[in-house]
Formats: sequence, structure tokens, C-alpha cells
Amino acid sequence: MSEKRTEISALGEFGLIDHLNEKIVIRHSSTLKGIGDDAAVIDSGEHVKVVTTDLLLEGVHFDLSYAPLTHVGFKAVAVNVSDVAAMNAIPKQITVSIALSNRFSVEAVDALYAGINAAAEHYSVDVIGGDTTASRSGLVISVTAIGEAKKEQIVYRSGAKVNDIICVTGDLGGALVGLQVLEREKQVFLSNPDMKPELEKYQIVTARQLRPEARMDIIHELRELEVIPTSMMDISDGLASELFHICKASNVGVTIYEDKLPIDKQTFDTAVELGLDPITCVLNGGEDYELLFTIDQKDFHKLEKHPDIHFIGHVSKEEDGKYLVTKSGTAAQLKAQGWKHF
Ligand SMILES: [Mg+2]
Repeated sequence: MSEKRTEISALGEFGLIDHLNEKIVIRHSSTLKGIGDDAAVIDSGEHVKVVTTDLLLEGVHFDLSYAPLTHVGFKAVAVNVSDVAAMNAIPKQITVSIALSNRFSVEAVDALYAGINAAAEHYSVDVIGGDTTASRSGLVISVTAIGEAKKEQIVYRSGAKVNDIICVTGDLGGALVGLQVLEREKQVFLSNPDMKPELEKYQIVTARQLRPEARMDIIHELRELEVIPTSMMDISDGLASELFHICKASNVGVTIYEDKLPIDKQTFDTAVELGLDPITCVLNGGEDYELLFTIDQKDFHKLEKHPDIHFIGHVSKEEDGKYLVTKSGTAAQLKAQGWKHF
């Protein structure tokens, strides 16, 4: 008799989440949203709380041969704050859990926490607890963030409507290009330790990879301008993949335009230098932690002149599909490759 064995890679990350979610039962009416958005949403009287958690493993999510521990600490907080932002909520508290092998000294832990504390100050959150334990395989860090908003301010992935305008903040593809540069310089160093890594000219893209920023500034500005997006996500797995999530949750289609996609000059030039297609980096690069959101057309005039919000397309009917209109004017089916760890 042989036992059935299915490889996790056969499901992929999102397939695995769906598979586990099938067996989860929601028991409390205060659980407004469980699995399936950037953060869970919990009713707590006048306000709602949002809760999100991320697990970062050495060797999978970061490489300490080029990522300084202080940056790893900052990033571990920023990626969670980004998911709170993606719900249109304000982060208030975090818990931090770490597992360490005996390779790490107290000084190393201090460096990690210097980054955690810098991020806590930057995003105005309190570190309220966590756990520490031993690890047999390097550093593991898990952060949980708790945020707050009024119930009517919360933005889900599921609210996009036909004719809404699709917006992205900042620029895209930089974190992936930065990772490729860091990996290339690591290989150069491994084959010849006397070679000094050439990183000065790649500062923007390597910073996008090593020390990303959550776009809380945009969340505060949207409040000042009295704009509540109809749907929102942060871009952690690549623009195309995130658009697919919004389409699935909102039962809509999308059309985006290649000439509207925001890309930084250094990202573009470095992608070309590395032999990568810049648009592929924008569509499928991960870890930019910019915001993707949709707005009602009536709100367009409030954001029209914002220097860091780009209007990349519109929401269509589900049966109209998902398309990228290229610079030459042809409509190509959008594919979601995403950023896969499995
Ligand atoms: Mg997210």
C-alpha cells in the first residue's frame, strides 16, 4: 500500500493557501474578514482592527551575505505595515518573534533590533511582544502587525467596479532588478574574493530590495483628500499577479497600458544591462511594496495632479478579460507569473 503524496509545488503558494482555507471554520461574527485579503479584519466596537503576519527565513527571503541585519529588521516591519496600509488602516502595534542559531551574537541581535526599532519609530508603532527561540538553520523572523480604522474606511480587494480607474504608486520592478544586481555581485565575489562589489551605481535598485518602504504616506494623503479606494492591495508578488487577485475577488476584468506603467530610469537601464525586459520586471517583479488600488471616476480630479500616483488603466467586465495594451497598440492577454518561493 502506498500513501498518496502531493508536492507543495504542485499547488503553489496561493493554491496551498486555498487548500488550507477550505478546512477553516469561522466561529465569531466579530471576524469580518479571515484569510483572503492583505490582512484579516476584526470588529472591535466603533473601530475595526486589522491583523497581518509575515514570516521571513534566512536563505529564502534574505541573504545575509549582502543584506545587513539592520535592513532585514527594518524590512520585516515594513512589509507588515505595507499590508496594513493595503487595507487603508493605520498600524499601531507589532509583535516580533525570532529564532536564532548559535552563529548569531548579542551584537548581531542588536543590529537586527536597531532596524526593527527604526521602523517602529518611522511608522509610529509599538513593539508589544513576541517570542525568541533557538534555530538549527540560521535566522527566522516573524512580525505580526495590528492596525486600526473605522469600518467604512477599510478597503478590500473585492470592491473594484467596472469603469473604475486603476492606480499604482511610485515605480515598479526596482526590487527585482536590485536583487539580480546583488546576486550577480555575490557570484563575482565568491569566484574572486579580491574583487570589490560595484554597487554605487545601483543604489536606488539595491535599496528597493534591501530596505523597502511601506506607502503609509499615500494612505494619509488619501484621507486628507477624502478618497476611499474601491479596492486595494500592496504589490508584493508583482503587478500582474496582484491585478489577478483583484479581478478574482471583485469579479471584474482589467485593461492596463504599457506606456502608463511607472518605471525608474535606473531600474530600466539596469534591467537592460542585465538582459531583462524592463516591462516584464514591472509586471512580474516582486517586493516593490507599492500600492495598487482602484478609484471611482468621480475621485479622479482629486488625485489627477499627484506626482506619485499613476493611472495605468481601467476596470472592465469580467468577461472582457485581462489585457495589457502594448506601446504599439496591440492588446495582449495579461499573464500572472508572480513571485514564487515554492
Ligand atoms: Mg499584501
